Amino acid sequence: MKKAELVFIPVSAPGHLIPLFEFAKRLLDRDDRFSVTVIVMHATAVTSLAAAYAKTFAESNTPIKIINLPPPVDFSPSQPVHKSLENFATEYVDNHKACVKEAIVKHVVSNANSGQLAGLVVDMFCTSMIDVGNELGVPSYLFFTCSAAFLGLLMYLPIRHAQTGREFEKFDGELVFPSYVNPVSSNGLPEVLLNKYGGYTSLMNHGRRFKETEGIIVNTFEELESNTTKRLLNYFDHVPPVYTVGPLIDLKGETQRDDEIIKWLDNQPDSSVLLLCFGSMGSFGEEQAKEIAHGLETSGVRFLWSLRKPAPKGKFGRPGDYKDELQQLLPNGFLERTKDIGLVCGWAPQKEALAHKSVGGFVSHCGWNSVLESLWFGVPIVTWSMYAEQQLNAFQMVKDLGLAVELRVDYRSIDGEVVLRDEIASAIRTVMEIDNEVRKKVKEKSEKSRITVKVGGSSFAAYQSLIDDILTNKEQCDHL
Ligand code: UDP
Repeated sequence: MKKAELVFIPVSAPGHLIPLFEFAKRLLDRDDRFSVTVIVMHATAVTSLAAAYAKTFAESNTPIKIINLPPPVDFSPSQPVHKSLENFATEYVDNHKACVKEAIVKHVVSNANSGQLAGLVVDMFCTSMIDVGNELGVPSYLFFTCSAAFLGLLMYLPIRHAQTGREFEKFDGELVFPSYVNPVSSNGLPEVLLNKYGGYTSLMNHGRRFKETEGIIVNTFEELESNTTKRLLNYFDHVPPVYTVGPLIDLKGETQRDDEIIKWLDNQPDSSVLLLCFGSMGSFGEEQAKEIAHGLETSGVRFLWSLRKPAPKGKFGRPGDYKDELQQLLPNGFLERTKDIGLVCGWAPQKEALAHKSVGGFVSHCGWNSVLESLWFGVPIVTWSMYAEQQLNAFQMVKDLGLAVELRVDYRSIDGEVVLRDEIASAIRTVMEIDNEVRKKVKEKSEKSRITVKVGGSSFAAYQSLIDDILTNKEQCDHL
């Protein structure tokens, strides 16, 4: 019998692509009735890191088929990418509809060696691909790479918009969202929700379309967000089934390994090192880098600091490495004074570092993958949100869940604010305390996050329900 073929359509961003590949790998490990094709859209300068990951993945011994699409010929976004990355990504994906459909027809539908198309699994920025699924007569499933709370917020946006008719403003005050326990201050909202260049509108439109899918797969777990999922299902009408199958953490693959860093960690005492790492797009200019350096020196902790350089002003792109410029950038003599207790690097092997017994704290931008990794490895976070939805993740971790130490839940890198050394030092000292309450809670959550993906765990069970539902939906399609 032909296998049930799922076609995955991600966006080329590491935080989206890596959990999606992990999800696909686990599906094939679990059930040999499935086969998977992933369609990778051509990478722009911003997404080249994800493209590199996809390439490495394709070259590994994987049964997952990867189709790389050519660059679009006629793409002209309504706004330049630096005005809104979300708007750019949405329009970029929309522009690929015909091309994606053609690829699915050629490589799956008309390919005698392929499985039988059972559905599309689309990233949260790829809801326009639901149309492609409809045209091909198969269901679409949403693959949501952020928290269930943020999923709830996006689903709430169209409802709120019908009442207010506008994006959010910084002066809106305290906002009550159905998927967050505490009211969120408008001043601390992610930039995209305030964005007037299509960012907010594109998110709202995605949120509206989520309900058109046959199921929503979320990279979270019941023991972390059970109340949120319940609130979400109670609040909205006609929500498709929500499958919380996380945490989806790729524990084997790494885009880059850096053994020198791991060797350095090997020589540090247990739980003594603070990791500072700010995601695929996090970076700091001179003034802020100096404040962090002073904060580190004041606190006296050992540290592994991933410090990267912003893209040139007015240009949107991935951060670069400071390399030889570090000496000049950091306070006079800093590198020399801290050479026995600290290491400054570019891209860090974050998961390996968090897994290392010498790492005891983590200053993080609170990207959702980083949050899940911190919980998995039981290393408490100091929150320093930067971009995307990270302010809300930081808020949820500190205020709703009590699982992180607050430095900033409302910092937006776009505002250019400088966080001062004393604030940094104080948050660092708190997180590194060995008997800190947050550390205890994070350790408990860590155990739960490992149990949930094992046989008998709730994410394991949700995964099985999803598999069963996909196969039932396929049978129904076959009978039409
Ligand atoms: N990451 C890493 N080294 C770095 C920066 C990031 O290994 O220097 C990894 C991190 O472990 C995580 C992913 O890149 O798996 C970032 O995902 P997240 O959702 O946390 O943030 P995003 O990059 O999407 O903002």
